[in-house]
Amino acid sequence: MLQVKRVSKNFGGIQALREVSLELCKGEVLGLIGPNGAGKTTLINILSGIVPADRGETLFEGHVLNGLLPWQRAELGLARTFQHIQIFAGLTVLENVMSGAHRLRLVGFWSSFLSLPRAIRDEVRLMKEARHILEELGLAERADLPAENLPYGEQKKVVLARALALRPRALLLDEPAAGLNEKETEELGEIILKLKYRGLAILLVEHDLNLVMEVCDRVVVLDQGRVIAQGAPQEVQNHPLVLEAYLGK
Ligand code: ATP
Repeated sequence: MLQVKRVSKNFGGIQALREVSLELCKGEVLGLIGPNGAGKTTLINILSGIVPADRGETLFEGHVLNGLLPWQRAELGLARTFQHIQIFAGLTVLENVMSGAHRLRLVGFWSSFLSLPRAIRDEVRLMKEARHILEELGLAERADLPAENLPYGEQKKVVLARALALRPRALLLDEPAAGLNEKETEELGEIILKLKYRGLAILLVEHDLNLVMEVCDRVVVLDQGRVIAQGAPQEVQNHPLVLEAYLGK
């Protein structure tokens, strides 16, 4: 579904990615791990169109992604979340989630501006869908609260709900468990698996290795911009280069 072919990226002398290749399949959770500064976020930024690759090619369901803007990638069905929470303050939880469904609107600006009946029907449809997602993530009762008033763990769910509102086929998650407590992380693992069984392809960048071992089908390990190992979670866990990257010689 998602292909990364020999992608390299240099930031003013820092080689963030060196000829990185990987593939993500439908219904698969692929873990992307590695020590700090390994290049994980850079790869997600390249895939989502926030920074361009210097070299290499990225494809989503056969479409070449290179050169596409972030919203064009979203329209193809590629959604992401960010390492640092980006909530729209001043909007409710429901409105935050609905903002993710922008590409699914069936009416144009003027119909919405003039509140034409078809625009209202469209709004109601998207609202129902957003409420359904919130229900699935256990946030139904929070729907009408200001999003910035929610505790951190719930705000992280809101950004995930917003990404899901796009009805993506692939999801790029950048450290979704960062800052979550044990129970919240466990719940996140269950949500990730539920999405996987629905057929979503998920790229999971994560430092919580317990979560990675539990939910990932395969794991790719980056160190200093290079893929140093890949395979089943148990294989990768005991790989000498991985142990060295994390623990030193
Ligand atoms: P972490 O686990 O700490 O989030 P990471 O594996 O996600 O790390 P990246 O954030 O991708 O690593 O960074 C890889 C390297 O590229 C680091 O040395 C980082 O300082 C550098 N880097 C990333 N983005 C930029 C940028 N916009 N400008 C300059 N250097 C950058």
